[in-house]
Amino acid sequence: MHDIKNSGYFTFPLGKLQVFIFTDGESVIENIQPTFAPNIEQAEVESFLKQRFLSTEKLTLAGNVLLVMKEDKIILIDTGCGQKLGPSSGELIENLILAGIEPEDITDIVLTHAHPDHIGGIVKADDSLAFPNAKIYLSKKEYDFWTAEHPDFSKGTQDAIADFEIQFAKHHLAMIDSEIQFYDDEAELFGFLKLENAPGHTPGHTLITISSDGEELIHIADTFQHILLVEHPEWGNQIDSDFELGIKTRQQILEKLSSNKQLFFGDHLPFPGLGFIQKTEEGYSYVPKSFYTI
Ligand SMILES: [Zn+2]
Repeated sequence: MHDIKNSGYFTFPLGKLQVFIFTDGESVIENIQPTFAPNIEQAEVESFLKQRFLSTEKLTLAGNVLLVMKEDKIILIDTGCGQKLGPSSGELIENLILAGIEPEDITDIVLTHAHPDHIGGIVKADDSLAFPNAKIYLSKKEYDFWTAEHPDFSKGTQDAIADFEIQFAKHHLAMIDSEIQFYDDEAELFGFLKLENAPGHTPGHTLITISSDGEELIHIADTFQHILLVEHPEWGNQIDSDFELGIKTRQQILEKLSSNKQLFFGDHLPFPGLGFIQKTEEGYSYVPKSFYTI
């Protein structure tokens, strides 16, 4: 089964698993710089965007959310924004229901990290659990970072953004505290998810390799949220809690994805966020997966 029923979701088999990708909407970055490429000449960034037919006024990031289904297990990886970051996002639950999945059906939630656009949807506006029957998995390192009295943002992230993120994470983690099961830097869940710490974006930021019957898909979470960071990983972004480590991790993952010719999923790349990394003479480029070959 593989089809696009509407812009809300896309589904395909991966070995014995069925993978769904939903859209939660999109987020718009109004100040491209300094959020992205803070130390690069404006003309250079604008020329890059123009050459790729992209706006030089704003960056639009997709909000893709991946779900894995195997028999009675329905596993959501991240939960979108909830209706907490403006009208262009928070569409996940509506789109789950369109696909015939009720929030009560979700058995497990694996969080890649605790940024607002990944944990916002975990509780409703009244702070009750949005997915009441789900076990919740989160990196211990990530939990410890956000729940510390003063999370350390000395190596990245502008103060104003960090303050908002800290408040948001502390509140949401408090609401789900008794439900969380912690995972370590390297862990395996359910026999088909392999978790691997990829720090820089946040300390507990985690990649998830999904595998079944010899087929594999890597969920790269926020390693690169836009093609700008695929072609220029070194330009960096101030959403990373550690700017330099974010660049290093991004470069390592680009190298690995390109040499393994590995299919991956990026939650902020254009919907449905499935593609490959190709090595070029200048560096790397993103090649979206063609739908008809899945
Ligand atoms: Zn994100």
